[in-house]
Amino acid sequence: MLCLLVACSSAPVNNQPADNKPANNASANTPAPQPEPEPAPAPTPAELGFVITTGVHGNEPSGYLIQDQLIKLGFRVFGPCNEWGIANNSRYLESGDDLNRMFGRTDCPQAEAVKKYLAENPPKILFDLHEDPDGTAAYLIQHGPDDDIGRKIIDELKADFEFDPEPSFMVVKGQDGLLKPTIQQLRALKFIGVYGLAYHAWYTHGCTSIVVECPGSWPEEKRKAYQLRVCELAWKFFRG
Ligand SMILES: [Zn+2]
Repeated sequence: MLCLLVACSSAPVNNQPADNKPANNASANTPAPQPEPEPAPAPTPAELGFVITTGVHGNEPSGYLIQDQLIKLGFRVFGPCNEWGIANNSRYLESGDDLNRMFGRTDCPQAEAVKKYLAENPPKILFDLHEDPDGTAAYLIQHGPDDDIGRKIIDELKADFEFDPEPSFMVVKGQDGLLKPTIQQLRALKFIGVYGLAYHAWYTHGCTSIVVECPGSWPEEKRKAYQLRVCELAWKFFRG
């Protein structure tokens, strides 16, 4: 019993006055609001594998002339693919060959340079910017027939630019500005072995690959504006 009393008497006593605030008040126990985490920056076109090539034909310079703008917009750009042609306003390489017929071979240094770049920067989608010196209206040639990005781009642009109602390229016939070779037609090109950059990108990297064409007779500012709008819309539809 004594022990019990001793135990009771030694119980701690709160001698603090009622109004004496505890040392750690409630506000100090509330965690300070944390700043909102910064949202992750949206991926750039380059980070998502959007590649643009320019200047394959040196007398079709509008893609090359906007390539600084394209780089600033975040695209991965390789060009001019035919530097001599750009410097000399020539469709052809200094050797006299057409670079866009040399991608089925291995002995063309300019084609090999493009292949190496694409191997090191594998495209998920590729746009190759050209002009058609004899063309009367714009058109797109889409390698990779299993999506509708070419059609979506044309639908958005046809209020501002004229598209060829019946474009054709070799045996391929298109409509409303779009040429879309079938898988069978594309395979036949591989068999022949004479093909260009966009075909190489589609065949080797399995990506949709589009040749962008506009009449060489359009004023330079219109050609540049068209190329830029095609690339911007392609990015919009590609990223979804
Ligand atoms: Zn061309």
